Amino acid sequence: MRRNTVAGNWKMNTNREEGNKLSSEIINMAGSELNSEVDLILIPPFTHAFEVQKLATGNKNIYVGAQNCHFEDSGAFTGEVSPIMLKGINLSHVVLGHSERREIFNESNETIKKKVDAVLKHNLTPIFCCGEPLGIREKGTQNAYVSSQIEESLFHLSKLDFEKIIIAYEPIWAIGTGLTASPLQAQEMHREIRSMIAKKYGTETAQNISILYGGSVKPDNAKELFACEDVDGGLVGGASLKSRGFVDIAKSF
Ligand code: PEP
Repeated sequence: MRRNTVAGNWKMNTNREEGNKLSSEIINMAGSELNSEVDLILIPPFTHAFEVQKLATGNKNIYVGAQNCHFEDSGAFTGEVSPIMLKGINLSHVVLGHSERREIFNESNETIKKKVDAVLKHNLTPIFCCGEPLGIREKGTQNAYVSSQIEESLFHLSKLDFEKIIIAYEPIWAIGTGLTASPLQAQEMHREIRSMIAKKYGTETAQNISILYGGSVKPDNAKELFACEDVDGGLVGGASLKSRGFVDIAKSF
């Protein structure tokens, strides 16, 4: 279902104490300052996810997710974590296909497709990331690039499964760089994504999908980005590590 959503991807940051403090502060502020129209998703490193989830339990509209997972349920995959393990500690969402996973860990559209299937199989919600590098944006071929990421990793899904997904459009040139897509650039791509979904699954499905923008979202630019018709919120990296700023971003709808 289409919801205003702000997800905080902590990446490989915070130790256990810092993670508990950050999440407690966010949960307290959100309880008194956010209305029920906004969902928050806290996405800590695996090591703190269990505790953060316990802190979040009972708080309406606050969810806890993971930054990645393997596509198998178990087995000889040293260093990996499976969707079943995430489900076992009551996480609800998993980020898949983040550009750092694609670029640093060579994840292909095919691998991400398998992860999407595995995550859905265990009733977790994939937050599927897509987005073009700077060279592609400079050539003006970003629509075709993002379309093929979505087609190759998601378009095998049934309509029912597709409707369970959250999409995050994250232009790589805007991630962690301080450069943000302009509201016009974000809106154009979000509309393009919604229209390709409409062609494949119908207008109703396209209208019901949450599409988040990611790439240097901050308290001072969130309002104009979230005001765009097809932008349903943000996937936030750096700015999710400060409780006050993160909650202020969530107050920008
Ligand atoms: C991200 O990691 O998904 C992200 C968008 O990072 P940042 O907000 O720091 O650009």
